Amino acid sequence: MFTLRDAWREGRAALAQSGVETPQLDSEIIIRYLTCKGREEFYRDLGEPFPAELLARCYQLLRERGRGVPVAYLVGEKEFFGFSFKVTPAVLIPRPETEILVETALELWQQGDLPVSPRILDIGTGSGAIAISLALKIQNAEVVATDVKAEALAVARQIALRLGAKNTFFRHGDLWQALETAESDSGPRSFDLVVSNPPYIPKGELMRLTPELQQEPREALDGGEDGLDFYRRISAGLGQVLQHGGWVLLEVGQGQAPAVRELLAQAGLTVFPPVCDLSGVERVVKARQQEL
Ligand code: SAM
Ligand code: GLN
Repeated sequence: MFTLRDAWREGRAALAQSGVETPQLDSEIIIRYLTCKGREEFYRDLGEPFPAELLARCYQLLRERGRGVPVAYLVGEKEFFGFSFKVTPAVLIPRPETEILVETALELWQQGDLPVSPRILDIGTGSGAIAISLALKIQNAEVVATDVKAEALAVARQIALRLGAKNTFFRHGDLWQALETAESDSGPRSFDLVVSNPPYIPKGELMRLTPELQQEPREALDGGEDGLDFYRRISAGLGQVLQHGGWVLLEVGQGQAPAVRELLAQAGLTVFPPVCDLSGVERVVKARQQEL
C-alpha cells in the first residue's frame, strides 16, 4: 500500500534532489493541500493510503516546485500573522519578517501612542498582508491600502472580504497619487500611521535572486539603483499626509536602516531605534512626525 508517508518521503527526496532548501516542509505542504488535511490530521493519518487519483497531480506539483515555483503559489495560500492569505503570482508572498512591522504597529496602538481609532495607510499593500492584519486586530481602525498594480489590489480586496476586514479601503495608483484618484471617495486622506514594505532590492541584484524570488512580481522587488528609491519618495511626501505626532514604520532590507533613518530625519521626523528581526537584522525603521 502506498501511504501518505510514502508520498511525503518520495516528494521530499525529489525536492531535495532539485536543490529545494526545505524539501521536507514543502513536500508536506503539497500533500496536505492535495488531501485537504491540516497539520495535525496529516501527522495522524500518515499510515493511510494516498489516494491513487491524486498521484499524477502530486507529481506535477512536485515538478513545478523543483523548477523553483514557490510552494505558496502552488497551493495558493500563505499564513501571515495567523491569518490565511490567498496568494497569486500577482502578489509578493508575505514574509515572516514583515510580521515584525505589524507587531510594532500593534504595540504603538496598545501603548496608547496612537488614537483608539487610528487612521492607517499601507503603501504597496500586495496581498494586503500588513493592512488587513492591522484592520482585523484594530477593529476601530480605518485602513487605506494602496498598490500600483490593479491585479494585486483585486487579490487583497478578496482577502479582506473573506476575512471580514470591512474597515479596509483600497486605492489604486502610483505611491501618493493613489490618494488622489476618483475612487478615493471613501476612507481618510490623512493618517496617524503610515506603514510600508516597499520594493527594496537594488536593481543590480535582481538578476542574482533565487529561482523562487525570480517568480515573484518584479515591481514588488525592484527598489531602483541602490534599492532606496521608494524610501526617498515616501520620505519626501510624508508631510502631506501624516498628522502631527503621527508615526511611520518602514520595513527595510539588510543594511538599509541607516540610510532610511537619515532620509526620515532629513524630512524632519524624529527617528527611533530600529526594530530588529530574530537574526539581528535591523528590519523596521520607526519615526514620528513632530507633535504640535
Ligand atoms: N505589503 C506587502 C507585503 O508586505 O507582503 C507587499 C510588499 S511588496 C515588497 C511591494 C508592493 O509595492 C508590491 O505589491 C508592488 O506592486 C507595490 N508597488 C510597487 N511600486 C509601487 C508604486 N509606485 N506605488 C504603489 N505601490 C507600488
Ligand atoms: N523580503 C523580500 C526578500 O526576500 C524583498 C521584498 C521587498 O523588496 N520589500 O528579500
